[in-house]
Amino acid sequence: MIFEGLAEKLQNTLGKLKGKGKLNEKDVNDAMREVKLALLEADVNFKVVKQFVEKVKERAIGQEVMESLTPGQHVIKIVNEELTNLMGNVQSKINFSSRPPTVIMLVGLQGAGKTTTAGKLGGYLKKQGKKPLLVACDIYRPAAIKQLKVVGEQLGIPVFELGDQKSPVDIAREGLEKSKIDGNDVLIIDTAGRLHIDTELMDELVNIKQSIRPHEILLVIDSMTGQDAVNVAESFNSALGIDGVILTKLDGDTRGGAALSVKAVTQKPIKFAGIGEKLDELEPFYPDRIASRILGMGDILGLIEKAQANIDEKKAKELEQRIRKQQFTFEDFLEQLEQVKKLGPLNKILEMMPGMGQMKQLKDIDFDDKEIVKVQAIIQSMTRQERNDPDILNASRKKRIARGSGTSVQEVNRLLKQFEQTKKMMKKFAGMEKSFKKGRQCK
Ligand code: GDP
Repeated sequence: MIFEGLAEKLQNTLGKLKGKGKLNEKDVNDAMREVKLALLEADVNFKVVKQFVEKVKERAIGQEVMESLTPGQHVIKIVNEELTNLMGNVQSKINFSSRPPTVIMLVGLQGAGKTTTAGKLGGYLKKQGKKPLLVACDIYRPAAIKQLKVVGEQLGIPVFELGDQKSPVDIAREGLEKSKIDGNDVLIIDTAGRLHIDTELMDELVNIKQSIRPHEILLVIDSMTGQDAVNVAESFNSALGIDGVILTKLDGDTRGGAALSVKAVTQKPIKFAGIGEKLDELEPFYPDRIASRILGMGDILGLIEKAQANIDEKKAKELEQRIRKQQFTFEDFLEQLEQVKKLGPLNKILEMMPGMGQMKQLKDIDFDDKEIVKVQAIIQSMTRQERNDPDILNASRKKRIARGSGTSVQEVNRLLKQFEQTKKMMKKFAGMEKSFKKGRQCK
């Protein structure tokens, strides 16, 4: 889970406040000392931590808390708001030019994820109806051009390249011309990186900048490198001037130091976050949602957006009806699995649910997506009649299903048991809903 270490510590510390009816200055000071340690351990810039803690204390010890009915929760609310502020408060979008093409130049150190991100960003913009062109200006790293071409092919996005013999400035300039001819409205330029910042690299980037005047210079940094990433951001910003940051590898970042410091240190917003190696694993960066995730409040909005984009509403309604009427069968179960699969890997979905990050039991369970595939195979090996009436499953039928799905009879039995439990649970829920509605009508 992203920022798992930090999230756990903050949630534990703040959880202690939750139960208290009254808070005095000492309670707040003690809690803030722990918050400070947690943030420092997460590799957040120390100046940022200091300011953050001061701000929360100032607000929490002031009148706000005195008047609040649940002071503990009020402090959590303040921490949430201040974390959000740290990361820039609102989501920062790409500034599209009123006279296309909009030119986006991606810069960053080698290995930060630039080439991958160029593709991801292209794919993201294509989904929004844009017509991007990727331009391969990294002529130094062997295979960088090839990599961009492969990525472009996978996404169905054209890639402009002139091999590695022309200068990056020329390639960028010709790419810009090409986009005008072909009617591409966004140009994404993948530039060269180095292992460390050096003046030669910066000079080259400045030359490209002056030659094609990009609308956005976005710095790609690896969030797992913590404060190093923030230092890189400062250097690029002072030498080149950047418009924003794309933070990659957030999926592997348990600490969160870069995400929480980069805006406060450089004054430049994080515009996108990379959350996996796959080409669709790039998300706009929403400070409020990230703050909520860190504090275990979940990211319900994100989950809803995912669901809206992927789930067939009509089918969901039908399913709801069937559950209400208690007609839930293996056919429905299969359908439901298909829908859930569209939302992405299970552990990522769970991360977005409030309180889930804190549930220790869940951490030990391996939410293996292969399990879903197995369950699907078992159901698919059943006949229609069996799916609708699992009671007819005798030993020989079970054996046949196990063989057909490449599983064992034990696994088939386990699924049948789980299915029965799910049905029972649904019955209970339906019952609860009824009595709740009745209760409301009586009022
Ligand atoms: P470049 O040298 O900056 O162009 O970096 P690449 O685009 O080649 O990426 C370096 C490595 O980071 C590759 O193995 C990518 O798959 C990986 N990578 C990039 N973005 C992400 C991300 O958001 N999450 C994860 N887990 N890996 C990423």
